Amino acid sequence: MVAIADYNVREKSQWCPGCGNFAIVGALKGALAELQIPQHQAVIVSGIGCSSKLPHYVNTYGFESLHGRGLPVASGIKLANNRLTVIDVGGDGDGYGIGSGHFLHIMRRNYDLTYIVHDNQIYGLTTGQASPTSQIGMKTKTTPHGVVETPFNPLSTAINGGATFVARAFAGDMAHMKEIFRQAISHRGFALVDVFQPCVTFNKLNTYDFFTKRVYKLEEQDPKHDTGNRMLALEKAYEQVKTNYERLPIGVFFKEDRPTYEDTLPQIKDKALVEQPLAGLDISKALDD
Ligand code: SF4
Repeated sequence: MVAIADYNVREKSQWCPGCGNFAIVGALKGALAELQIPQHQAVIVSGIGCSSKLPHYVNTYGFESLHGRGLPVASGIKLANNRLTVIDVGGDGDGYGIGSGHFLHIMRRNYDLTYIVHDNQIYGLTTGQASPTSQIGMKTKTTPHGVVETPFNPLSTAINGGATFVARAFAGDMAHMKEIFRQAISHRGFALVDVFQPCVTFNKLNTYDFFTKRVYKLEEQDPKHDTGNRMLALEKAYEQVKTNYERLPIGVFFKEDRPTYEDTLPQIKDKALVEQPLAGLDISKALDD
């Protein structure tokens, strides 16, 4: 029996008081405990950024990689041992900016990975520059007269790009976020969960108050929403654009069953790579020592 407390660590958090990251790590531990995933069977990978410190704060295997490079590391781990639960975490700058090429190609291959993006619409670790999801007009250190570029739309990109589970959560609603994480981790295939995560220090526009007034749960306000319908999912993904950020749906937008990348590789379909003999050497013995 795995309890939430089993994922706790003694490490002191470096996050600012009130940061949305605290709720995300709490919800993730809750989802892992509900799914009864033992610590040694889970790996949390990250890139670089405030959110990418998360692997330090959960008692599972962890890997803090390079800026924007969490997904390639996560997919490599999955190929080496496809029995593991692999979760990649990072920020909007990390994943939708510098790591965007990896995001596109890893989701179309449908690795069995969960990708959680702490989307705070700003670069937090480097003290407040515009990010790929900053709203038009938002004033930051790099855009003193306001952002002029069209923001990146992670949900429509994922729905079109081959992700087989696409959802959004809000760090101000931890119970709902935990349920979304639980579904994403249970899903076989590439799952994106974009999380509205207020950066209380550098983003004075997209605050808890801002989101609380605007978010609504798809499953409650639109019970007819069909997660198997790609066109409906796209329509919902564009709602924030069409309403100029006045209505922000959260919940599961899209789901589909498709063979994972690992399932289509005969070399690892039945036996994980780490369990196979390599050039006369049984590497599982080395791993046991
Ligand atoms: Fe959170 Fe922003 Fe502080 Fe980073 S800078 S820890 S994102 S509040």
